[in-house]
Amino acid sequence: MFYGGCNFMFNRKPKRESYTLVVNEIPVLVTRKKIKTIRLKVNRVSLEVKLSSPFKISDEELIAFIHQKMGWIKKHLSKPPLQLPEPDLKYENGDSIPFKGGNYSLKLQHGAKKIGVNIQGSDIILSFRNIITQSRKEKALNDFYRIYLKNEIPKLIEKWEPIMKVSVNEFGVKKMKTRWGTCNIRDKRIWLSLELAKKSPELLEYVVVHEMVHLHERLHNQRFKNFMTQFLPNWKELQKQLNGRID
Ligand SMILES: [Zn+2]
Repeated sequence: MFYGGCNFMFNRKPKRESYTLVVNEIPVLVTRKKIKTIRLKVNRVSLEVKLSSPFKISDEELIAFIHQKMGWIKKHLSKPPLQLPEPDLKYENGDSIPFKGGNYSLKLQHGAKKIGVNIQGSDIILSFRNIITQSRKEKALNDFYRIYLKNEIPKLIEKWEPIMKVSVNEFGVKKMKTRWGTCNIRDKRIWLSLELAKKSPELLEYVVVHEMVHLHERLHNQRFKNFMTQFLPNWKELQKQLNGRID
């Protein structure tokens, strides 16, 4: 076995090749890989279209495939991205801050003993000592979101466990770019996106119930949908409002 410098001769990674095909004015990033079937993805954050293909399929065949999927691609590209690109928030007085499905007006308040965030009417008050950096403001608001979710989610789990006859061992909140929630069925652990703090309590509950239904059914099949209808009859409407991926 050789270690070190001889990458050219001893490169054992599968061969890969990337280039762009433009079909109906839509750029599609093609990557050739050692795989058996074509995979097509639309990244809902960057709105990039990506395709992975086995080496043996010709570009003509790929173009025909992309044409065939054009309806699906356009549908996904026309949806707003799950997370809008951060609107360059400077966190200044009067900036609009989303929370629980509404917009709050940011008020900066110095002279406090330590950094804190709280709600007063339609204002969100960020208090601090003397000066505060942009990134510290952002962190303070994310901490505020996290505390809110960590307080609300256990109440929802407790409410739904006896109704749904499942038990959740653990939950976590984290920054997720493309999903609202995920569920580890074996460990009975659910993960929820920090972004949910910006959405209405009804939508937060919907994602929690969705993840808990996975403890009955792994797939998004008819059985899964029947459970959803049983527990939250208006779940389809909520899904539309949320407009994004839940795993
Ligand atoms: Zn799911």
